[in-house]
Amino acid sequence: MARSEGDRCPGVLAVHQAADGGLARVRVPGGRLTSEQVDVLRRAAADLGDGRLELTSRANVQLRGLRPDGPRQLSDRLYAAGLLPSLQHELVRNIVASPLSGLDQRSRYDVLPVATALDRALCNRPALADLPGRFLFTLDDGRGDLADLKADVAVRALDDQSALLSLGTRAVGVQWDQVPELMLAVAQAFLDVRDQEWRIAEVPDGAGRILQRLGLQSTEDVPTKATQLTAGRYGSALVVTVPLGSLTPEQAAALSQAGDDIRITPWRSVVVPVSTTGLAEVGLAEVGLITTPDSVWEGVTACAGRPGCAKALADVRADAARMLPELRRDGRRVHWSGCERRCGKPAGRFVDFLAVGNGYLMDGKRV
Ligand code: SF4
Repeated sequence: MARSEGDRCPGVLAVHQAADGGLARVRVPGGRLTSEQVDVLRRAAADLGDGRLELTSRANVQLRGLRPDGPRQLSDRLYAAGLLPSLQHELVRNIVASPLSGLDQRSRYDVLPVATALDRALCNRPALADLPGRFLFTLDDGRGDLADLKADVAVRALDDQSALLSLGTRAVGVQWDQVPELMLAVAQAFLDVRDQEWRIAEVPDGAGRILQRLGLQSTEDVPTKATQLTAGRYGSALVVTVPLGSLTPEQAAALSQAGDDIRITPWRSVVVPVSTTGLAEVGLAEVGLITTPDSVWEGVTACAGRPGCAKALADVRADAARMLPELRRDGRRVHWSGCERRCGKPAGRFVDFLAVGNGYLMDGKRV
C-alpha cells in the first residue's frame, strides 16, 4: 500500500492503535451508504469492535476498540460490501459532497453522481495512491455548504452545465463533463510539484504553479459563506443529528431500516430522503437520534477523550452530556477536547472546551 512518509491518517488497513484498541477509518466518498452497507458496518462494529460507529468531520465512519484480529476480518467484510474497492487507494478516497444534493431547491446540480465518477477514476490511477491522506476533494451542489472544509480542490455548481473549480482563492470555470478528469489532473500536478507537503496550501504558490502546469487561466474566487445543517426536514429529506457523532448499535440499526439512500454529513449528522422515511422518522427519535432543530446536542462535538485516548485528561463525552443542559451558547457550535490537540474540532468558529486535568477551560477561561 502506498503511504506518504509521516502520514498517520488511519484507514482500514492502516489501523491506529488507541488506548481502547484498534481504530479503523472507513472512507465513504460522497458520504453515501446503502442500507445494506450501514448494516455491514453495524455488524462489524458489534462483532469486532466496541459496537459504536463514529461519524467524522469528513463524512467518514470510524470503528473503535477493534480486537487484534479485527482489522483483517473488517477489511474482508468491507471489500465484500463494496466499501473497499481499492486497497492501494483506501486512504486517499477523501471526497465530500453536499449531503442534500438533488433533494431540495437550493441544489443547483446533483453532484453525487460526480462523486461516484471521481472515486472510480481515482481508484483507476495507480500514481494517485501516493496522495497524502489529508488531501481533500469537495463537490458543492451550489449552496456553499462545504466552504469551511478548506478542500485542496473544490468544485461548486453554477448550474446544470457549468461549475467553478477552485484551488484556494483561484478559480476556473469548467463544464461538468470535465470535472472528474480535471480534479485528478490537479491531484497529479500537486504530487509533481510538492516536496514533503500534505496539502496544496502548504506548497509555496501551489495553486498558481498547478494551474499554470495544467494550462488553466484562473480568476479570483469569491468566497462563499458556509452553511450548516441542523436536524429537521429539508425539501424531500430528513436531517438527523447524531449526539456527539457516535451511533449506538440500536441507532445504526434504525438508520439502516429508514431508507436505502443514507448520507453521512461532515457535521455528525445523517440525511435520509423523506420518501423512504414515513414511520421510520418516529423510530429514529425513539432510539435517541435528533430529528428536530431544538436539541441541546445540535452543533456539539467532542474528541474521543477517556478511556479511548491515552492522552486524554478527562472523559469529555460524559462531561459534555452532563454539562450541556446548563450551558448557554446562543446557537454557537461547541467542541470538547481532552487535550490541546483538539482532534475532530469543527471547521470555522466554535466554543472551545478544553480539559486541563482539574476541570475545563472555555475559550481559555476556567469554568
Ligand atoms: S484531542 Fe487529545 S485527548 Fe482528544 S482524542 Fe485527540 S489526542 Fe486524544
